[in-house]
Amino acid sequence: MAESRPEELARRLAAVRDRITAACAAAGRSPDEVALLAVTKTVPASDVATLIDLGLTDFGENRVQEAGRKVDEVAGLRPDATRRWIVVGGLQRNKARAVVRWADRVESVDSVRLADALDDAVRRARDTGGRRDPLPVLLQYSVDGDPKRGGVPRDGLGRLAEHVAGCAGLELDGLMAVAPLGADPDAAFADVAAAAEALRAAHPQARTLSAGMSGDLEVAIRHGSGVVRVGTALVGDRPLTSR
Ligand SMILES: *Cc1c(COP(=O)(O)O)cnc(C)c1O
Repeated sequence: MAESRPEELARRLAAVRDRITAACAAAGRSPDEVALLAVTKTVPASDVATLIDLGLTDFGENRVQEAGRKVDEVAGLRPDATRRWIVVGGLQRNKARAVVRWADRVESVDSVRLADALDDAVRRARDTGGRRDPLPVLLQYSVDGDPKRGGVPRDGLGRLAEHVAGCAGLELDGLMAVAPLGADPDAAFADVAAAAEALRAAHPQARTLSAGMSGDLEVAIRHGSGVVRVGTALVGDRPLTSR
């Protein structure tokens, strides 16, 4: 008999959890130190509901309009479930107001202008009752400094961190990075770990390191990542189906 979608998601989740456990064991770390962020940008709200039933709480999205609809749909499907929505990947400044309505964290802050747009949006949302808490953010670090792929290069990190730390609506929680395409992930994540440590030295509250995806989570865990962002390995290659 064909596997149902919930069965498939349960099987994939078990495999991802096994990989995280094994990587932590190999690195001499406790699996409690590594959070699994399910990147659900390609799947419908029904899959998010299934993943909630399977025990996941953290969901990453990068297409803001689609995500806003999905947030509402999941609220309808699982009104009482604990869940957190996290923005991963490129975010345009003109989407800041929409995002602060539902985001529990933004992992892709890579410029002063984006930080200011989010800070301003949080202030407005607080004034109108659309949001109560400040917005936790991670700075997106660019390992290779390629501006096309997003992220702030190493020489801009300190200044951006200072700026974000001074924004009343934002909370500087740490660093996020993606290993550059074609790069040696071991060298890339060693560099990311050094950048995260420098950030933490200047801003002790910025403790979160989000690094590692389906293809390289073991390497990232070896280099100290505390959040792995897993899409494909968890949900497959399925494009968002029509509803
Ligand atoms: C899509 C995405 C992921 C997940 O990537 P997979 O290779 O599918 O696990 C992680 N981080 C960001 C920023 C993404 O956009």
